[in-house]
Amino acid sequence: MDRIGESATLKVTRRAAELKARGIRLADFGAGEPDFASPAPAVEAARQALACGFTKYTPGSGTPELREAVAASWRERYGAPWSAAQSVITVGGKAALFELALAVFDEGQEVVVPTPCWVSFPEQIRFAGAVPVGVPTSGEDGFRVHAEAVAAAVTRRTRAILINSPSNPTGGVVEAADLREIVRFAAERGLLVIADETYERFVYDGARHASAATLAAEFPETVVLVSSFSKTYAMTGWRIGYVFGPPAVIGAIEQVQSHATSNPTSFAMVGALAALQKAEDSIGPMIAAYQERRDFLIPRLAALPGFECRPPAGSFYAFPRVAGAYRPGRQGSSAFAEFLLEEAQVAVVPGEAFGSDEHIRLSFACSLDTLAEGLERMATVLAD
Ligand code: PLP
Repeated sequence: MDRIGESATLKVTRRAAELKARGIRLADFGAGEPDFASPAPAVEAARQALACGFTKYTPGSGTPELREAVAASWRERYGAPWSAAQSVITVGGKAALFELALAVFDEGQEVVVPTPCWVSFPEQIRFAGAVPVGVPTSGEDGFRVHAEAVAAAVTRRTRAILINSPSNPTGGVVEAADLREIVRFAAERGLLVIADETYERFVYDGARHASAATLAAEFPETVVLVSSFSKTYAMTGWRIGYVFGPPAVIGAIEQVQSHATSNPTSFAMVGALAALQKAEDSIGPMIAAYQERRDFLIPRLAALPGFECRPPAGSFYAFPRVAGAYRPGRQGSSAFAEFLLEEAQVAVVPGEAFGSDEHIRLSFACSLDTLAEGLERMATVLAD
């Protein structure tokens, strides 16, 4: 436990909960959680599964039906080569990544990760005894991941390259040519490329998501892909994610999962299957809503004094550089987040949690009204 730190987001989250409990109305941009309801077909299918007594253990790697369906989905949409046997259904994407880390990283090995990055990547890597090696991405070019920079960070000790595109927290994406180059480079050296595509559907301005799944047929020993029902289908609490990869890696993850969680919740998997089969139509309108929120939020955020912000290419986070708004008493992203919480009742996550103390993260998975109110409150306290 000495290897891993406490989440830097906890302080703000705790304080936000205290304020809410006191009846204070927060503009909450903190949680990375869609505000939409889970799809009705998923809810109905899970309800029926419960009523029918589908409440016992299932095979440890998930129901055969759901494994088949996720494999078919990635095959149809991206030409992925994975069979159901090359998948494991997990307790959210987080468990997939955690089990993967335990299954494949050895003490002292390095894992190359573009930064700023999701809070759990470095901690999971450290938990497994390995060492995260950050490759900085920059706001000036939209936090894009560049293949040369990633390749330059690889050493003799590197075991894997972890690419999260679209990214939480930056919204940056990797372009198809860079991704191909990263995978080709990794394959040449016997490294894994772990693609966390949790935000796969969340790309804007008509762009096409560059998925590592399209490269898996050509580089079957290299590509490991993690995704989840949480964000795409607004099913965060159901805790259903999955991982695809080469048979040896999948076998190792199955072993870990067999001693960790066993199967994910039986009826939640039935709901997830229904979402996959019957709720595809609900995704388009949700993405359109996120696009509208992004287009509303970003220019207004960029106009706040001391804020710099470009439209994120993907995910549902704004990650403005706010160092220009730091003053004595609100110096650094944690103090600044605390200032916004106390003075404006606006909850954001300090960039420090993701590896940049000059930024804050705002989730726009909330209503336009909340965005408008939060922006107004921030404008007021920043003008003082
Ligand atoms: N990967 C990234 C980049 C995330 O932001 C999240 C959730 O916030 C996850 C994985 C895991 O999500 P879940 O465990 O809900 O599937």
